[in-house]
Parts: sequence; structure tokens; C-alpha cells
Amino acid sequence: MSNPEILARHIAIAYGAPELEAASDAAHDQAMVADILHSVSRFADDHLVALNHVGDRVGSRLEQGRVKTPAGHKQAWAAFREGGWLLLDARPEDGGMGLPSSLASAVQEMLDSACPAFGMMPVPIRAALRLIKAFGDPAIQKEWVDPLTQGLWSTTICISEPDAGSDVRRIRTRATQDDDGNWLVTGEKCWISFGDQDITDRIGHCLLAKTEVDGNPDAISLFLVPDRFGDSRNNITVRRVEEKLGLHLSPTCALGFEEATGFLLGEPGRGLQQLFVMIAQMRLATAVQGAGIAARAYAVARQYAAERRQGGSGTIAVVIEDHADIQRLLLQMAGRIETLRGLIHATANALDLTEKSPDQVARDHHAALASWLLPIVKTLGGEVAFSCASDAIQILGGAGYTKEWPVEQCLRDARVLTLFEGTTGMQAQDLLFRRLLGGNGAAFRAFIATARKDAVGCDRLETALDRLEEVALALSAPGVTRRDQEAGATAFLALASDVACGWIGARLESQKTIDPIASHLAAAGQSALQEMDHGLLYQSHSALCGASSISRFGDLI
Ligand SMILES: Cc1cc2nc3c(=O)[nH]c(=O)nc-3n(C[C@H](O)[C@H](O)[C@H](O)COP(=O)(O)OP(=O)(O)OC[C@H]3O[C@@H](n4cnc5c(N)ncnc54)[C@H](O)[C@@H]3O)c2cc1C
Repeated sequence: MSNPEILARHIAIAYGAPELEAASDAAHDQAMVADILHSVSRFADDHLVALNHVGDRVGSRLEQGRVKTPAGHKQAWAAFREGGWLLLDARPEDGGMGLPSSLASAVQEMLDSACPAFGMMPVPIRAALRLIKAFGDPAIQKEWVDPLTQGLWSTTICISEPDAGSDVRRIRTRATQDDDGNWLVTGEKCWISFGDQDITDRIGHCLLAKTEVDGNPDAISLFLVPDRFGDSRNNITVRRVEEKLGLHLSPTCALGFEEATGFLLGEPGRGLQQLFVMIAQMRLATAVQGAGIAARAYAVARQYAAERRQGGSGTIAVVIEDHADIQRLLLQMAGRIETLRGLIHATANALDLTEKSPDQVARDHHAALASWLLPIVKTLGGEVAFSCASDAIQILGGAGYTKEWPVEQCLRDARVLTLFEGTTGMQAQDLLFRRLLGGNGAAFRAFIATARKDAVGCDRLETALDRLEEVALALSAPGVTRRDQEAGATAFLALASDVACGWIGARLESQKTIDPIASHLAAAGQSALQEMDHGLLYQSHSALCGASSISRFGDLI
């Protein structure tokens, strides 16, 4: 399980923490942070551990057209609401506590560590509140903000359709206006997490639909589509709840909209751009979910390795944690988890400073930095979760493969993290084409400038940053074709991720305080720098191979 003390230390030492503290209106100290994290830890033990088991075995089901969640979910949600943890990072005027997003991420990690499917309900609520505050008209805000803040109502992010996954422009759902100017939405959405449930009184779908704007029939606009008005249901049917590999507690719904009443959010035709307010939060949350799953897998493996006896030369077998290969696996897991956490908290702080920095130059810098880090941290979260779950199974041996132990569930739950909220392939293209080659390279420059400051005295990070710049330059050279770039994009993402982890590693390694947690994090920093060194050559080479790396496709496949 996620350890509150370690999470509290991450919050205290994360990139941007001092600037954020200076810019924040809400006071928080170490004691308050520790208190919140310990309370959430108790809540997770009391409510989520058992729910995670039932949720995985029983799952959410479709019964007479409505989703029924398993026993204990409603009670857990009620206790979560009462704890007041839903909106730690929202502004006080919106019912929140104005605390840093890094604290909200740590709280979220503890939920995800105990029950990652439960954690999927609060995330869209938090993200949708930002969306509604930014783009909802006063009437929408008046109606929705309070019940969402209190967790009485919930929201979904409603984009995907049978013919529109990565390619959002291919959505077919359409919104038209009736004679009174009301918007009516018709179409099919699929894979909508918590698209229906029996926990909250109302669900608002944050939905993309095509509308006609200035003669363009295919402009994409954003709507809030409630599932009900008082006692009457809106024209939305739950067509199916998917059977899937993991996260069974969270119902993944196919929804039919037949002239369902919706409300336009923001400007017509700017739906996708506006929805990015929500998508940025969801991507960070996916990374956090990865850290939570990885932390659980690690905790189980750590304990098992300390108790299971095999091998050794004496009459009594030694505990398997004495074996070098098991130590290697545990080290790898712990190092990756702490580095991922460091990157999550850096990204959360960069996002906060985008809004809270007192001057515009700093706000722009942090916006650019966050936009560089988001595709990296999102992907890394999914990869660390899966690799740690797999390593945990390796440590448990045959037991790890059975349902008697929870690590096989970790592996199943983790697998989707590199798919939803944008697949790794799409994150790679986003990083290369939008963050590096688009926007005049501001996102890339913001990262390089930030990491160079922490590279003073760390030659390994200096070298890695030089290498990343060389590869970036080579990928944008005139003779490089779009196909070359596409072929190298995922390796470039991996390279950028290794270097971002090296940056976090250098920060963790150079902590000033010496105590057990600082030593633990410094050791994790050394692991991150080592992994970066190992990956540098391979990922650089793969990123630059270009289309030649796939030239055998016609012969082999
Ligand atoms: C459990 C679960 C929960 C989900 N929850 C939600 C939700 O709440 N709301 C929601 O709207 N959606 C949700 N989704 C949908 C999810 O966001 C999509 O599955 C995801 O965006 C990928 O789309 P796709 O599955 O159609 O894959 P596709 O787009 O068909 O992609 C298939 C493969 O092709 C690759 N590919 C596609 N296009 C390109 C390209 N141009 N260049 C290179 N490679 C490409 C992809 O990287 C991928 O490897 C959920 C999905 C799951 C499984």
C-alpha cells in the first residue's frame, strides 16, 4: 500500500513546491498533510480493501437497463464524501480547500492503491468541475457546482464511439437545436467509465458531439448531458456493460443518446480544445493510478519476499529476499515507483503554477513544462504499474499467478493504463508533433531549461540532456520524413521519459536532509539515473532509425 510518510516527503521536496507554497492562498503545513494522508489511509483500510476484492470478483452489472454496483460501494462513497477529500485542490470559493494538486494526487494514489476502480469516480468529478467553472454558463454553474463538490452528483468524460477512439474527429454523435433553441444529442458512445451507476443521484456526461458552426456541419462542440431531470430520465439508454480484463468494479458502458437534452459548454466548435482542461487532469490521474497499483504490487511482493523461504545451503532455507535476483527485482520496483511519484508531483505542481504563479512569464513557463511532462508521466504511470505487477508475480512465483494473491489483479487492472486517456502511440505522437515540433518547441525548451538547473553537478544528467537535444534536433531536420518521425515517435517518448526520470533522479539523489526516508528516496534517485544511462543509447538509436526500422514490414508481415 502507499506509505503516507513517503508521499508527504514527495510533496515537500517536489519540483516547484517552494514557489507553489509562496503563491498559495491556503496555508498547509507538514502536520496537516500528514494528518490528511493518515486519515485517507484509515479510510482505505476500512472501506476499500474489501471493496477491491468484491469489485474484482463480482463487478458492476447491468440489471434491467441500469448498472448495479457491488455491495459496499455505496457505503464507501458515502464515507469518502464525509471525509471531505473529494476537492482538496479546488479553490475555496468553489467549495474546495485550495490545497496543492500534489496533495490531491497523493490522496488519489492511496485510493488507487487500495482499490483502483473506486478511484475512477472522483477523478472525472474533479476534472469536470474545472471544466464547468471555465465554460459553463452561470445557470449551469449554479445548478452543478454544489452537488458535484459534495459528491452527490458525478460526471463522465464521454468521447469514444465505435468508430472514433484515437481519432476523435470521426465521432458521429450529433447535437442539433430545436425550435426553442434547446440542444438535442443523438448518437452512441462506448467505453464510458461509470457511464451509469447507482451511487450518485445524478450523472452529467461531458460529451463531444458534432454541430453545425458557420456552415461547417462537422464542428465539434462540448455538452453537458444530464442522465435525468428530477424523477424523469433523459433519453439515454445503457446498451451494454463491457466484460473486461480488469477494473471490474468500474462499469464500462455503451450509451445510446436519442434526442437527449444537453447544454452547450463554452463556444460552439471549440469542444475538443475546451475538453483539454479535463483531459490534462485525467492524464495526470492515470499516472497516479499507475503509482497506486504499482505500490500495492510492491507492498505484497516485499512482504512475501521477507517470509517465503527457498534455497540457501543450511538445513533451514533462507528467505527469498536474501537472493540477489529477488533484491534486483525489488530494487527495480521501488526505484521506479519513487521516480514516478517524483514526476507526478512535479507535473501536478507545474499545472498548479500555470494558474497560481504571480507573473505571466512564470505561468507560461509552467504551462509549457506541464504540456511536455503530461504525455510522459501518463505513459510512465501505465508502464510502471504493469512492470511492477509483473515483477511482483515473478517474486511470488506460482503463487503470484493464482487468485489467492492480489498481484494477478494488479497486472489485469494495470493493463488498460497505456490504452485509455490516449494510447502510448498517440501520446508519442502528441509529444513529438505537438510538444517538440509544434508551438515553436516551447514545451521542450521549458523542460530542458528546468532540468539543466538541476543538472549542475550531475554530469550524467547533463550528458542525457545533451543527447535528448541532439535526437530532437535530428528528428526535426529537413530530410526527415513524416513517416520517419512516426516510426521513431514511441522510442523518442521512451527517451524523453528516461531523461525526465533522470531529472527526478538527480533531484531525489541530491536531498539535503539525511533520514531513512531521504536515504530511501536518494537510493531511488540513483536507480533512476542508472536506468536512464542504460536506456540512452538504445532509445536514441531507435528514435533515429526512422522508416528504415519498419522497412521489413512488407516481407515479414
Ligand atoms: C476500461 C476502459 C475505460 C474507458 N473509459 C473511457 C471513458 O470514460 N470515456 C471515453 O470517452 N473513453 C473511454 N475509453 C476509451 C479509450 O479512451 C479508448 O479505448 C482509447 O482512446 C483508444 O481508442 P481505441 O480503443 O478505439 O483504439 P484505436 O484508436 O482503434 O487504436 C488501436 C491501435 O492503433 C493505434 N493508432 C490509432 N491511430 C493511430 C495513428 N493515427 N497513428 C498511429 N497509431 C495509431 C493506437 O495507438 C492503438 O495501438 C475507455 C476504454 C477502456 C478500455
